[in-house]
Amino acid sequence: MSLSKVKHIVLVLSGKGGVGKSSVTTQLALSLSLAGHSVGVLDIDLTGPSIPRMFGIENAKVTQAPGGWLPITVHEADPTAGTGSLRVMSLGFLLPRRGDAVVWRGPKKTAMVRQFLSDVFWDELDYLLIDTPPGTSDEHISLAETLLQKARPDQLAGAVVVTTPQAVATADVRKELNFCIKTGIRILGVVENMCGFVCPNCSECTMIFSSGGGEIMAGDFGVQFLGSVPIDPQFLVLIETGKRPRYPEGTLVNGQDISTPAGAPHIEEESIKDAASLMQKYRACSLAPIFSKMTADVVSAVQRANLA
Ligand code: ADP
Repeated sequence: MSLSKVKHIVLVLSGKGGVGKSSVTTQLALSLSLAGHSVGVLDIDLTGPSIPRMFGIENAKVTQAPGGWLPITVHEADPTAGTGSLRVMSLGFLLPRRGDAVVWRGPKKTAMVRQFLSDVFWDELDYLLIDTPPGTSDEHISLAETLLQKARPDQLAGAVVVTTPQAVATADVRKELNFCIKTGIRILGVVENMCGFVCPNCSECTMIFSSGGGEIMAGDFGVQFLGSVPIDPQFLVLIETGKRPRYPEGTLVNGQDISTPAGAPHIEEESIKDAASLMQKYRACSLAPIFSKMTADVVSAVQRANLA
């Protein structure tokens, strides 16, 4: 069974699309890998699988092996650097055309989710992050049922729920939290994304929306608030072009100075296909320290859950 070598399964959920669920999944994966864990990402967002684009592997071809489909390797573990391997499997790899899955009917989607959970050949993994479709739809219920049936109770660590300051004001994220409670999926924590803006020019992080709603809501549900993540255009540039993030002198994000060091290579000196991996370049991103802390909190939450 393809999940048998996976230690912890973490679902990444959101009440609605566009709140940054895939970006959060990607950054949790990079941070876990930087912290030395072996990580897999399974993208079953049938409404538009965006994980291949996030990792710059859109043209990758998956191969079939006796145990199932082989995931795509983003990078291998590097024991000297203390980093873990990162592998990805997305429904996007299997679609002849982008957007194909969106028009599938419920039963076909359900069958695909089941197949995805059982037919991807994951090697030893510390964490498998599952990027799910937004909402509390049929796919979710099917996924929850399949996971509850197929995964060992100690494997299914729980869910990270992603929201935005605006979405907190709507019923979507509460619905998602209630969905977890109803289906018996533990909530590892809530992330509030897009709560501010890291200006690429003026070394300021501006809080464009009143933040704090996610924290209050997490408190209402008695679940952990994992943190607020600002919009950083440099993260988008990294994803779209592979360029290493750079910030003007004195840039502070969440009280931390993330200015680009004086000796760092200039963008022009770096080829787009820079030998450094996405993970290495991500280290320079203003969002990396935020996710490093969040990752540590998720790891502790998983450990606590396993002891409980
Ligand atoms: P979802 O998976 O919820 O549909 P995505 O993660 O695809 O949302 O995010 C939508 C878009 O917003 C993507 O282009 C993504 O790169 C961008 N984005 C999300 N969060 C951030 C952020 N904190 N900083 C910069 N860009 C972001």
